[in-house]
Amino acid sequence: MTSPLLDIEQLVVRYRGRRLGKNGLTAVDRVGLTVGAGEVVALVGESGCGKSTLARAVVQLERPESGTIRFDGRDVTALRGQAKREYRRSVSYVFQDPLSSLSPRQTVGEAIEEPMIVHRIGTRQERRKRVGDLLSLVGAPDSWFDRRPASLSGGQRQRVAIARSLALSPQLLVCDEPLTALDVSTAAQIAKVFTDLQRELSLAYLFIGHDLGVVRRLADRVAVMHLGQIVEVGASDRVLGSPAHPYTRALVDSIPVPDPAIQRQRVKLVLRGEVPSPLDPPSGCRFRTRCPHAFERCATEEPALREVPPPGTRSACHLWDRADAAEVISSPDRAQRAPAA
Ligand code: SF4
Repeated sequence: MTSPLLDIEQLVVRYRGRRLGKNGLTAVDRVGLTVGAGEVVALVGESGCGKSTLARAVVQLERPESGTIRFDGRDVTALRGQAKREYRRSVSYVFQDPLSSLSPRQTVGEAIEEPMIVHRIGTRQERRKRVGDLLSLVGAPDSWFDRRPASLSGGQRQRVAIARSLALSPQLLVCDEPLTALDVSTAAQIAKVFTDLQRELSLAYLFIGHDLGVVRRLADRVAVMHLGQIVEVGASDRVLGSPAHPYTRALVDSIPVPDPAIQRQRVKLVLRGEVPSPLDPPSGCRFRTRCPHAFERCATEEPALREVPPPGTRSACHLWDRADAAEVISSPDRAQRAPAA
């Protein structure tokens, strides 16, 4: 078996500060995740669950406290000098707000060319040609070359930011909610840009998204995060079609169905209570204060992320010690009767 392109193991990212108490805030807690070459892995979960912190750690915008991030078999958590520059060419970051990566003073052409200048790639003529090719790849006309970000719409800016992120021919794009700031129809167009690019360039994506419909169409696999931990991971159709964790089930159930008649008839898993503070997460399973299936063991023992059926799926839930776990998780109306373990 070939090793994954990106291999994250036991990663911990902790924020420190006077207001965060003596233990700080553990935004990412012992997370493991892989992304294969050319594979699209989506990270989903409520805001504040640690998705963006994990993504930022991969592109070295956050410093992990412990754990490893391997890229192409090499530990990249403590790279320096030339090795660090090479890694930064291989992995690119697409921000939620394209203005984060575009200077208002630069033209579109200058913004896309800049990474190539920094990494001393090509002659001026070659770079200009590449900028034109990149604009065309993201469906933008050459006429944008001399425009400034302020004169572009949100969707147009995101196309430019994507073109810039491709300037160094990365193998992996880390996309941090790149559709969130866009209206529905523009988001659909930009999602198509990501799909087309992935097919054309065989890129790998670590894609953070909140629209589960887009995630299902785009991703090969989905990892679900809750309070700094991955609680379920597997093939996207399986995770989003037949969740193996009550939290995923609740996320999927929160998507409204367009047909009001069907919507009314749905038996949904409705979460109770507030999201616990990441500064003081519940003991045992961190989802237990909102989980309708919680039982005694959930308060005392942290569930491990373990293999569950079908192959390739992992879930962190004690229900999987029961033979009818899949049935219980898929039947929210059984919640109050489950389980006596
Ligand atoms: Fe719910 Fe317990 Fe499973 Fe956590 S371990 S998701 S509280 S049933």
